[in-house]
Amino acid sequence: MQDVIVLNCGSSSIKFAVMNVETGQASLTGVAENLGNADARVKFKASGQSSSLSLPENANHQQALSSIQTIIGEHDANPVAVGHRVVHGGETFTQSALIDESVKEAIKSTFHMAPLHNPPALEGIESAQKAFPDLPHVAVFDTAFFQTIPKHAYLYALPKKLYEEHGIRRYGFHGSSHYFVSREAARMLNKPIEQTNLICAHLGNGCSVAAIKNGQGVDVSMGFTPLEGLVMGTRCGDLDPSLHSVIADTLNYTPKQVDALLNRESGLLGLSGMSNDCRTLEEAAEAGNEDAQMALKVFCYRLAKYIGSYMVVTGPLDAIVFTGGIGENSAFIRESVLSMLEHLGFGVDTDKNLAARFGQAGNISSGKTPVLVVPTNEEWVIAQDAVRISQQA
Ligand code: AMP
Repeated sequence: MQDVIVLNCGSSSIKFAVMNVETGQASLTGVAENLGNADARVKFKASGQSSSLSLPENANHQQALSSIQTIIGEHDANPVAVGHRVVHGGETFTQSALIDESVKEAIKSTFHMAPLHNPPALEGIESAQKAFPDLPHVAVFDTAFFQTIPKHAYLYALPKKLYEEHGIRRYGFHGSSHYFVSREAARMLNKPIEQTNLICAHLGNGCSVAAIKNGQGVDVSMGFTPLEGLVMGTRCGDLDPSLHSVIADTLNYTPKQVDALLNRESGLLGLSGMSNDCRTLEEAAEAGNEDAQMALKVFCYRLAKYIGSYMVVTGPLDAIVFTGGIGENSAFIRESVLSMLEHLGFGVDTDKNLAARFGQAGNISSGKTPVLVVPTNEEWVIAQDAVRISQQA
């Protein structure tokens, strides 16, 4: 039995798991949170038992990782590698990589592309290398799966030197999730993934939809950053690019303030004026709240339009796939989206739609094209890649 330590380092948090690479089950999960603050702490769960411990005031990543090392040391595990989630791999990384000095330099060269995500990821990698010096460390990139997108799909219609000199193009994110659910979907369809065409909607707090042709990513709704595309919990998704300066002028905002508004105050939260949480909005909509109803309608409409346009990209479609917290659990959202696609031959079976929730996979279609609900497991992709790549080395 082989275990992998899976780490996801953010600016003030480190999510961790010890995962069995054969089964995809995590025997230990936890998060070090509020790093850099007075109330920094680690919460973790093993064998159904939750625990929490305080970290030193203003604890940094290094201190958090040494606590995590102790927690993992006391846990009955046999870790053979550490897998790190890294959000942005630019064009350098088309697959996961064994971390050495040159990989760290390459991650550093992507800092300007993901200033909120990649610097803490590298800090986490360096701290983890000190905490687990005898294990191989592997970086798994959210962008890597989408490095097969053709140039005509990833270029923005901007002066080409912006791409050539500054790497400004569409990259796509949620790659590990789209990779995982597309493989699971092909398995459910009993088809080789290399011959399977899918449209996968990952709907969580962040949302993206991917066009997958013959098993490869050929388009995706997220772009240079994870802001583009679908309506999300707090992100606006697609927008008239002029609005950046219009909002700045109208509200007398700096570019950073406009960015914060588009990333943190928009989406379902901005539209509803109430919450970014789909469950809360569904309850409010059910109770007659018109802002919640409209927020959910905009969300579904944008997704339905993307699915329609990606049918142009994939060619003959084998299935639509729903995943992520909303995609896996919200029968309401799935039914609303599919009802907008009825004239394209999609339909939903009400009983199957209600059954495929809370971790249960299934085909919810009443039409001829399958509509699959597939619970995602990004950590398993990271764990499997960590073993595969470290064994190749
Ligand atoms: P994630 O980022 O994948 O954890 O997904 C978070 C989103 O999933 C939030 O908007 C939740 O409201 C939503 N979600 C989780 N469970 C349900 C549910 N039973 N019904 C509707 N939305 C849900």
